[in-house]
This record gives sequence, structure tokens and C-alpha cells, in this order.
Amino acid sequence: MHGLMDCHLHTVYSGHGEGSVAQVVQAAKERGFSHICFTEHLPVPAGIDDGFTFSMSPQEVIAYRNEVLEAREANPQMTIVYGGEADWFGDNMDFLLQTTKGYEYLLGSCHMIDYWEYDHPDLIHTWEGKDVDAVWRRYFEVWCEAASSPVPFTCMAHPDLVKKFGHRCSFDPRELYAHAAQVAAANGRMVEVNTSGLFCPCAEQYPGPEFLKAFCHAGVDCTVGSDAHSPAKVGRRIRFALAAMYAAGYRCVTLPRPDGDRDYVALEELL
Ligand SMILES: [Zn+2]
Ligand SMILES: [Zn+2]
Repeated sequence: MHGLMDCHLHTVYSGHGEGSVAQVVQAAKERGFSHICFTEHLPVPAGIDDGFTFSMSPQEVIAYRNEVLEAREANPQMTIVYGGEADWFGDNMDFLLQTTKGYEYLLGSCHMIDYWEYDHPDLIHTWEGKDVDAVWRRYFEVWCEAASSPVPFTCMAHPDLVKKFGHRCSFDPRELYAHAAQVAAANGRMVEVNTSGLFCPCAEQYPGPEFLKAFCHAGVDCTVGSDAHSPAKVGRRIRFALAAMYAAGYRCVTLPRPDGDRDYVALEELL
């Protein structure tokens, strides 16, 4: 039987997480995981996170890389992928292309809509008075711009993060889902089922079942990740994510490899 995978993991380098790379590896090993991807938050341009509370400082990138590569050396029985999670800003393309170089696996994330940090837990009040339908439409525009940009995102992370605090559009979003899935497919991006949403006010994995079906229908590769920010949360609800993929029509989970290629494992081997 194939070991489990968690392809979205953070450490103390994120500025808002706990645990070293080695501690995260240890937690994964103890829980039967054989394939993990470190996807630390990459540096953002000056002025956005100068206190480094949600991203690495540029000075930390080399140490992070070295720790991941050392962990790989020390654990040859596991597949450990050196990745990063990059914020999409909607501009500053030179910065993005520069800072996303050299990763084996790159997550593309829309944590901001036109520099509004709509998903920041300390800024929930900034949703007050917003037209939620308009926010959803703009979010999907921004998401599609990211997915069709020249930035080498391997995978679009938590695709419907806009629902995080439970703000749902009043219209049927299936048209937005179908279009986003087509954009991902046309640009060779994969997606992930991210279980962290189960623990947020939206109480649902990202993407939700209908959106996941749309990705499957469009032929978009899909992986799974916990988005853990501490060793205790490594691998959280991964079996649930795999079952959600199966229910949406997927029969294989995709595993990003250190050489940039992808492996496919039958879900029936894991469920
Ligand atoms: Zn994220
Ligand atoms: Zn993350």
C-alpha cells in the first residue's frame, strides 16, 4: 500500500507557524506519510509584510532551502519536495518572476484581492459593507489572471479561499467554477484539495465539492494538502481530501516530484 501524501506544509519560517523542517518531517513520518512538500510563504515586496508575520524574509530563503535539502538527505525513504507558496498581487511581475525561481513545486495563492488582505483573521471587519457577489466575481477574475500568468505556478492553492469566513455569493457560482477550471487546464496548472478550510468558518475544504467536480471535468491534475502551520497539524484530514477527490470523479491523486515531474497514484490504493 502506498504511503500518504501532504503537499502543502509550513514551518516556523512562515512567521506565523511552529516547528522546524525536521520536526514537520518527524510528525509526517510518525503518521505514515511518505511524500511531503514544504511550501513556505515566499518573500513579498517591501511594504506589504515588513514585520514578516506571513512571509519569509529574503534573508531566510537560503536557510529554509538548506534545511529542506538536509531533511531529504536524512530521510531517503521519504520523498521530500522543496517548494514555496507565492502570493499573487496582480502586478509586480518582475518581483514575482525573480522570487519564484528555483523551486521544485510552486503554489500560487490569491490571499489578496487588489492588495486587500481579505483572508487575514485580524481583518475580518474589513468585509463589513462589502458587496459579497462583487467580491466573488473579482476574486475569480484575479484567480484566473494568476493561473494564466507567466509565473511558474505548479499548482493553484486553496482555489476558493474567498469563502474562508463564510461569505458566500448569492448567485450560482458554477459558471465561475467551470471557467476557472478551463483556465487551469489550459495553462497546465494543477490544484489541491486543501483541508484547512474544514477548520475555518466556511467549514469546507478548498475547493468545495462543486468546484472540485469542475476541475475533474476539465482534466486538471489534483493533489492534497493540509496547509499545516505546526507539526501537530501535519496530514490533518488528508484521507477526507482523498475521499472528496474520489467523490468528485477523480481516480488518481497527483504527486509533484523533486524533478518537477508528476506521479499519479490510484485513489483506490489509498482509500
Ligand atoms: Zn495560502
Ligand atoms: Zn499555505
